[in-house]
Amino acid sequence: FSTAAALEEPITPPVNIEHTKLLINGQFVDAASGKTFPTLDPRTGLLIADVAEGDAEDINRAVSAARKAFDEGPWPRMTAYERSRILLRFADLVEKHAEEIAALEAWDNGKPYEQATGDEIPLFIRLFRYYAGWADKIHGLTIQADGPHQVQTLHEPIGVAGQIIPWNFPLLMFSWKIGPALACGNTVVLKTAEQTPLSALYVAKLFHEAGLPPGVLNIVSGYGPTAGAALCSHMDVDKLSFTGSTETGKIILELAARSNLKPVTLELGGKSPFIVCEDANVDEAVELAHAALFYNQGQCCCAGSRTFVHERVYDEFIEKAKARALKRVVGDPFQKGVEQGPQVDSEQFDKILKYIRSGIDSGATLETGGQRFGSNGYYIQPTVFSNVQDDMLIATDEIFGPVQTILKFKDINEVIRRSNASPYGLAAGVFTQNLDTANTLSRALKAGTVWVNCFDVFDAAIPFGGYKMSGHGREKGVYSLNNYLQVKAVVTRLKNPAW
Ligand code: ADP
Repeated sequence: FSTAAALEEPITPPVNIEHTKLLINGQFVDAASGKTFPTLDPRTGLLIADVAEGDAEDINRAVSAARKAFDEGPWPRMTAYERSRILLRFADLVEKHAEEIAALEAWDNGKPYEQATGDEIPLFIRLFRYYAGWADKIHGLTIQADGPHQVQTLHEPIGVAGQIIPWNFPLLMFSWKIGPALACGNTVVLKTAEQTPLSALYVAKLFHEAGLPPGVLNIVSGYGPTAGAALCSHMDVDKLSFTGSTETGKIILELAARSNLKPVTLELGGKSPFIVCEDANVDEAVELAHAALFYNQGQCCCAGSRTFVHERVYDEFIEKAKARALKRVVGDPFQKGVEQGPQVDSEQFDKILKYIRSGIDSGATLETGGQRFGSNGYYIQPTVFSNVQDDMLIATDEIFGPVQTILKFKDINEVIRRSNASPYGLAAGVFTQNLDTANTLSRALKAGTVWVNCFDVFDAAIPFGGYKMSGHGREKGVYSLNNYLQVKAVVTRLKNPAW
């Protein structure tokens, strides 16, 4: 593997930490308990900052601020055009401060700074501009019903949205949740992931500079079983949206059901197939399959984590996939040219190394990698397994790390069956030059997204979400508006039906 920087001496990130408190009703405040929790630098495991630790009491405060902003405040009553202008001004401010925001993201999460500036921030900005465009184009229908009635539908915001996000793309997840919720006129209480609380607090301040009224967006940093669970159980929260593990998704749904039956959007785990067909250009397929798995240190819910390769190109593919992994540049996320930083924390680091051991023990062939990288922080060598069988844990479980598992297949019906034999159904990749193969696979694969000859295309207008245990509902695009609107039918009797 190439290393671009001495890992022992981390580079100083180009940003100061200004916001570590909770954001409630437009103010940065301490937690009611006065408690804080540490957010750590994945490069070293050392402290970045102590952050206010919200719990049930702070969730209560944040929900009442959001409730008031919805029931009495200007937000749902503003013209949609005014709301749209605030979203646009916010996007401009994020663009202006892109480098500091990206630095916070890279520091807290461990992702390469160049990926934060080059991928995540532009997608974030684009998404807010996209939903700003929707804000004043949301409207109902006029319906021809039987009988003497004038019938119309009103598309109304639901109310207070509780949103819980993970640590792998803290900013992108912020945008997917907040963008449509606010465009539709809802107010929000967001719980960020305990591993990565910093970037959301920074951008939330910019949102208020852009003119967002107090209470419309509240942010409670803290842990899942305390702050997160309190948000899910709250009787005054009208809607939940969650991105995270399937295991936690089940808890969220249960808490929602046991409290006030609030509707829930879930975006959960995956074990997405990436299928390399016999006609594939192997060099291109290797590069795309590599990116599909290793991007963001392998910490993507949609990672192409089962690489199915046709037997005719299998041996060549393995050699080249191994060579590509060996060339992957691992190093300090703030070093130029780095492709892979550390995993987010010690828990993920240990879990991934455990899966690697299980792969070796179950008889898969370790082509390269398999160890920690360096001796400091949570870096892991880019790892490739070949000769992987469907029932091995590394082929069934979400590893969420830089571990490529390569499986051999013979024919298209077989690969369809094996791809679909998973409780997950988030995404799939198909690599072929044959239109018929592409169409057959696109239709047969049970996944919320099928990327053909591409992967990880995250345009704001394209819906994203899961089949099966990968989730409920779709985010992004026009589809996400449905998550944050409810439909009221207004039926008015006509006195003179002749007209
Ligand atoms: P991961 O295992 O990748 O950390 P999780 O699903 O546990 O994924 O975490 C995603 C988000 O869900 C985080 O913000 C976390 O704090 C939150 N969370 C975890 N457990 C709960 C819970 N019991 N109730 C509500 N939120 C939770």
